[in-house]
Amino acid sequence: MTPTVDFHCHLDLFPDFEAVVAECEARRVYTLAVTTTPYAWQRNQDLCAPTRYVRPALGLHPQLVGQRPRDLDRWLALLPEARYIGEVGLDASPAHFSSLDRQKAVFTSVLQECSVQGGKVLSVHSVRTATIVLDLMEEFLPGSNGAVVLHWFSGSAREARRAVELGCMFSVNARMLAGERGRSLVRSLPVDRLLTETDGPFTEGIDGPMRPREVGTTLRRLAECIGYEEHQLHELLLRNLGGLVGGIGSDQGVLV
Ligand code: MN
Repeated sequence: MTPTVDFHCHLDLFPDFEAVVAECEARRVYTLAVTTTPYAWQRNQDLCAPTRYVRPALGLHPQLVGQRPRDLDRWLALLPEARYIGEVGLDASPAHFSSLDRQKAVFTSVLQECSVQGGKVLSVHSVRTATIVLDLMEEFLPGSNGAVVLHWFSGSAREARRAVELGCMFSVNARMLAGERGRSLVRSLPVDRLLTETDGPFTEGIDGPMRPREVGTTLRRLAECIGYEEHQLHELLLRNLGGLVGGIGSDQGVLV
């Protein structure tokens, strides 16, 4: 079984969290288990760290920042333990617009502290805020101090070009590839910046919320979108992931 990549999935929001982790492991899905609050870190760390294919990410979701004022301190305290960070970022959609100032302050702290500690890999949310996210990244997390993967990117073509110039990668899901706008954006990105994701359980799979084992759906749509054979795309994604995180260059690789 060829390994696949799901670089943004909320494993802990599935009712059968432990089973999903085991599934990623059995089916060889390199999975980034993003979280929404630092209070979820320990449980994710306990379940994911012993695996070969699943890594937990320390999160502070922009949609929760307004209601959870104490999370930032907890997040900062745990940061030295985490290599992967997410889900973090900004969200200016109508339901979350009122907390945007607070979100910006929190995201700025997140970027500054990641920059100080160095070597972090971030999965970043940027709904209706791509330009602000890129401005803050440019100011507070210079390229060599950390790596950013923009998750479910929905900015403009111009914002995408700027993100590429700033060194960002993009994790692409099946929903993004369902419409022509998303497909044309994805086609505009350099192929060596692409990763796949499910964003389960927030996307629909074949039979309920999409699980990492279904990331093949994303892979097939992405292959069609950019004109690759599936096997070529498999190789490309593993190469891209290896370039991002190190340690993966072959079937024998592990997620470090
Ligand atoms: Mn998400």
